[in-house]
Amino acid sequence: MTIGWHFDNSYSKLPKTFKEDIKPVPVSLPEILILNEDLAKNLDLDFSNITKDNLSQILSGNILPEGSSSIAQAYAGHQFGQFTMLGDGRAVLIGEHLTKNNERFDIQFKGSGRTPFSRSGDGRAVLGPMLREYIISEAMHSLKIPTTRSLAVVKTGEDVVREQISKGAILTRVALGHLRVGTFQYIAAKQNINDLEILTNYTIEKYYPNIKSSKNKALDLLNVLIEKQTQLVINWMRVGFIHGVMNTDNMSISGETIDYGPCAFMDSYNPKTVFSSIDQLGRYAYDNQPKITKWNLTRFAECLIPLISKNEDEAIKLAREALDKFEKIYETKWLNMMRDKLGLYGEDNDDKSLIMELLDWMEKNKVDYTNTFIFLTNKTIKNSEIYNNADFDLWKNKWVKRLTMFGNSHDKSMELMNFSNPMVIPRNHKVEEALTSASNGDLTLFNKLIKILKNPYLVNNDDLEFMSPAPHSDNKYQTFCGT
Ligand code: AMP
Ligand code: MG
Repeated sequence: MTIGWHFDNSYSKLPKTFKEDIKPVPVSLPEILILNEDLAKNLDLDFSNITKDNLSQILSGNILPEGSSSIAQAYAGHQFGQFTMLGDGRAVLIGEHLTKNNERFDIQFKGSGRTPFSRSGDGRAVLGPMLREYIISEAMHSLKIPTTRSLAVVKTGEDVVREQISKGAILTRVALGHLRVGTFQYIAAKQNINDLEILTNYTIEKYYPNIKSSKNKALDLLNVLIEKQTQLVINWMRVGFIHGVMNTDNMSISGETIDYGPCAFMDSYNPKTVFSSIDQLGRYAYDNQPKITKWNLTRFAECLIPLISKNEDEAIKLAREALDKFEKIYETKWLNMMRDKLGLYGEDNDDKSLIMELLDWMEKNKVDYTNTFIFLTNKTIKNSEIYNNADFDLWKNKWVKRLTMFGNSHDKSMELMNFSNPMVIPRNHKVEEALTSASNGDLTLFNKLIKILKNPYLVNNDDLEFMSPAPHSDNKYQTFCGT
């Protein structure tokens, strides 16, 4: 009964401080709801010789595959600014799978029962939020944004008690890795420099072997993460993604988007957009995401101080110099990303003000962020009357002039825009519709949404409804952590 797992586990061999050896807690009646056949193929897995029942047993953790070495990882985190010791409280890493090309992926079950890190939680996950993680993470992947992926969702056949009674589920999460800024914080908090060194070397060996022989590995690791995380948040800003809980335990060292909770996509452009019901002060609002990225990177740098230099003052100085570059790196990348969205080649001094003028106009007139860029490529969208507007025309004239400034053809600009601007994002009302009917046992809408989001840069005229926000959606839409 094998589906092709090929485990080679490195993290589970680390010292005891880093993890707890633990098995998933069996569930009574596992039943596969969603299976990601495309991802399975990429992982060289083969489900053709196995019954659905057996596969359900495997993907619920009831049967552990040969070669797995299941653990819960230890980590800490700043949650809304407060430091806490955490760890996998409802997840189990069953192992690291190698594909035939020797690519390495963490395979994790989320919702797999209590662990030594569960604190007062039950270790379980609710069906709706696991399906939500499936939709959004797969959409992010198709949007060309680094992310953990979702291989399957299995119903456990057991109830989970939250504010109301809900159905339990287990998500199989696939990631380049599950190391977090919080993993470093956990080890740093234990003040054992030997373990800190082990973690740093492990991280570099696994993710960033190109800095293996550099003179100051810890400092270079900081620089690499500054680069990776800046690039990631730029991508979020590009598509209007709001993560919602950018706690340091939810910032991955591999540079992937991780931990989909109350995340959602912005419809009409408003930099202050917050969807999460618990984010009352807007700490993780759309336009705060770059600042929080730097805040989290600063927490990461603090962990590395003892390794950057034996002289603490010197170490702090070096870390600060690296972090001080963040704004410049971000600004440059952001400008280039926005130029791509607008099909602009080359660099002109007035680019930033041209971009800001458009964003200000969108904000003032509550115009849809995604659809504005689609409109500019002359494609059909609903509710395009909003662009019959004198201020918009004025702006558009400037933009048209700027398009040709460096002698590039209109076609080339459109090509760049089509590449940078999704036609479809997971619209909040469509996600809710799909989740509600899937939770009631009908997967038709869920599967349709998944199919459309597989090709977000290309949409059929039949599917225009997936491109529109719900009327006044931004005023009301709220997301919940839904653990
Ligand atoms: P999250 O909000 O998913 O990022 O989780 C934050 C922390 O709470 C992590 O340590 C989780 O493992 C833990 N946690 C979340 N939900 C549960 C649960 N139902 N049972 C136990 N631990 C949980
Ligand atoms: Mg988390």
